[in-house]
Formats: sequence, structure tokens, C-alpha cells
Amino acid sequence: MNWSQFAARLSGETGIMELMDDMGRVLASGDTNMVMLGGGSPAEIPAMTAIWRTRFEEILREERGVQRLVTQYDTPQGQPSFHIALAELLAERFGWRVTEKNIGVTNGSQTAFFLLLNMLTGEYPGGTPGKVLFPLLPEYLGYADQALQAGSFVACRPVIEATGDHSFKYHIDFAAVEAALQDPSIRAVVVSRPTNPSGNVLTDAEVQRLDTLTQEREIPLIVDNAYGMPFPHIIFEDLIEGSARPRWNENIVLGMSLSKIGLPGVRTGIVVAREEIITALSRANAVLSLANTMTGQVLVEPLIRSGALINHAHEIIQPFYRQRMEFARATMAREMNATVPWAIHRPQGSLFLWLHIRDLPITSRELYQRLKAAQVLVVPGEYFFFGDSEITSWSHARECLRLNYGQEPEAVERGLRIIARELARL
Ligand code: PLP
Repeated sequence: MNWSQFAARLSGETGIMELMDDMGRVLASGDTNMVMLGGGSPAEIPAMTAIWRTRFEEILREERGVQRLVTQYDTPQGQPSFHIALAELLAERFGWRVTEKNIGVTNGSQTAFFLLLNMLTGEYPGGTPGKVLFPLLPEYLGYADQALQAGSFVACRPVIEATGDHSFKYHIDFAAVEAALQDPSIRAVVVSRPTNPSGNVLTDAEVQRLDTLTQEREIPLIVDNAYGMPFPHIIFEDLIEGSARPRWNENIVLGMSLSKIGLPGVRTGIVVAREEIITALSRANAVLSLANTMTGQVLVEPLIRSGALINHAHEIIQPFYRQRMEFARATMAREMNATVPWAIHRPQGSLFLWLHIRDLPITSRELYQRLKAAQVLVVPGEYFFFGDSEITSWSHARECLRLNYGQEPEAVERGLRIIARELARL
């Protein structure tokens, strides 16, 4: 079969595809001995699942509930009543001047990023091909293979601050970012906040400075808020210096998602941006998807309108992940051998511990294979460092692992014990 360049970009063999396949095979095999600390799945939180069950029952009882859910196409921008509810909530909660025209829905925020990244990279009429800048790597590996034009991503290494014996934090290296922004082909700056994989939450000052720099350049700042406020609010404020207020203005494109409130299966992504961007995104969404799935919007809309979703984020989702994070952190500290030079990124948000082992004698991919043989699946750090060779050749990129702590505590404990044992052997 002869495939096109498009196919080569999207369906070629990527490391992450191999990894996902590996994980999927373990799940499908029913091997219950394998500890799954690798996937990016949010945890199933029983109290949230009960809320979704109640909502489904309400919809079934509504006169035209089922029809609304499944018998009609949505618009490519999403449900107008959902946009209004969310715009009102954001305006009231954060004082942002957003209306329904500033909100677009896609089938998962992954799709929104695919569209946005390709609308900003690649050929420009009469100009040089566009690139986007990731000002701080490691970053969400879901972006890594999204640009159809190879070589579209430019990235900067972070400044690493030691924040304790076994703890560190990444900061943006603004000198590097400002130098990178000299390149006129940079058409956007992209960050996730909180960051998958590191659990970093960029400070308000960092976001403000990125905002200023991008405004000066007249390019958008894309902030992926999949774990952020107002929902799911998987942010642990006491581990953050100062506040971590979300920021929005006409230059910021804010990505949001219903996945981390416990609805990854409904595939609902949200973009908050200036009207011109929402219009372009919705048109592209019509070509790609025709329309969106309605389930997420219909399930969640009344909870957004009443504000109940914010309470659930504060009272159910955030405490759940907080407890699991504390447990994983304490278990790691207890199990690690004193001879191993380990440190975790300060877990300020998202659902991962990001482990760095200084001078790891093998690559994190090799460590992944060893851990798999020892019955624990993780994600090797290499995958989160993409872009130019300056980044991919960095030794730090081969010394990290991402561990999902949302799993059952017994599994997390068993997995961390195995990791500690294997590292001690190395
Ligand atoms: N952005 C980040 C930072 C993520 O971690 C994820 C998923 O894990 C996504 C975006 C994609 O989320 P979804 O497509 O489920 O909305």
C-alpha cells in the first residue's frame, strides 16, 4: 500500500504508539499482576460516577432528553446553551469578558490542539513556514506528533530549581524564550498549566510574562488548562508560590476538557478564545468532525449553570487526587534506597509524579523495559522532550519517568516498591 505524506506523519511508527499498544495489550490480556502506572487516564472516582449516573437518569426522564442526546447533530461550534452557561460562569468567577462567541467545543481537547497547531504551523501564503514554541519542556506528549509539517516545533529547556532533598521545580528560562522568539516564523507559544507530565504549575508571573511577550509579537499564547481551574481544579495551592489564577484575554487561547472531571469517554474539549479564532476553529471542526458529540455538553450543562461542578471539583475531585498524591509521595520517600539520587518534581497539579534519577546509568526507555519485565508499567521521560535536537539530546530527558498516581493505593505502593528495588539494583 502506498500512503501519502499525511499518512506517513500520522500513521508512521511513533514511540508513543508502541507504548500505548504495549499498555493496551496488557489490559486486554487481563494480566492483573501488572501495575499500571503508565497511562494518562484519570481515575474513576465513585462519587463523580454517581453524579453522572444521576444525570443520565434525569435525561432519560426529560421529555426530549434522549432526542437531545443522540438524535440530532450538534453545530460545529457546540451547543449554544452550553456556551452561554460556560461563558457566564467564567465571567462571574474570573471577571473575564467572555460571551458565547468566545467558546468552541470539539470532540476532546486533543482534536482542538490538532486543529490549532496545524492552523498555526506549516505553509503561510507569502511567508516562511510557521512554527510554535514550547517555552518549557517536558510537555504533554500528545502534542509531539500533531504537526503535519515536520520540524514545526521549537522548545526551550527549563531552569531547574532544587526545592528540597528529593524535590525540584522547573521554571521558564526567559532568556532562552526571548532568544527563540526572535525567529519570525514562531506563530504561537504553547504551555500546559498544570503540566502533564511534571505536575508543574507555571506561576502567575511566568504566565503574565509569556502573555506580554506574545502580545508584543502579536502571536497567541495557548494555555492548555486540562487539569486547571475552574474544573477539574487538580491544583494543590499550598505547594505553589503565590496564586495560580487562570488568565485569559483576547490574546490567550485557553484549552479546557471534560475528561479530568471523570468523563474521558464523552470526548468533550473546550476552547476559550477571541471570536475570530473560535470561528476559524469551528469551521475547521466542521471539515474534520462535521459535528461534536452531545453527551458531555448535555450531561454537564446544568452543573455549570448552577455552579455545582465547581463545588464537585473542590469537594470531590481535588481532595481525591490530593490524597492519592500524598500517598504516592510518602510511599516513594519510604521505599527509595538512600543510595539512589532520586528527586520528584514538586507535584503542584495534574495526576503524575515526575521522577528524576540523576546520572541514571541506562536510558529511561531501557528502564521502562526492565520495569515492565518486573511487572510495572510507567512512561519513559524521553517522550515528553520533543522539538529540536538541543532538547532531545539533553541527558536530563533520558533520566525521568512519569508515574500516574491516580491508581488504587495498593497498586501504587506495589509499583513504587518495584521501581525502588530496580533503581537500587542499578
Ligand atoms: N492536554 C493535556 C495536558 C492532557 O493531559 C490531555 C490528556 O491527557 C489532553 C490535553 C487531551 O485531553 P482530551 O482530548 O481527553 O480532552
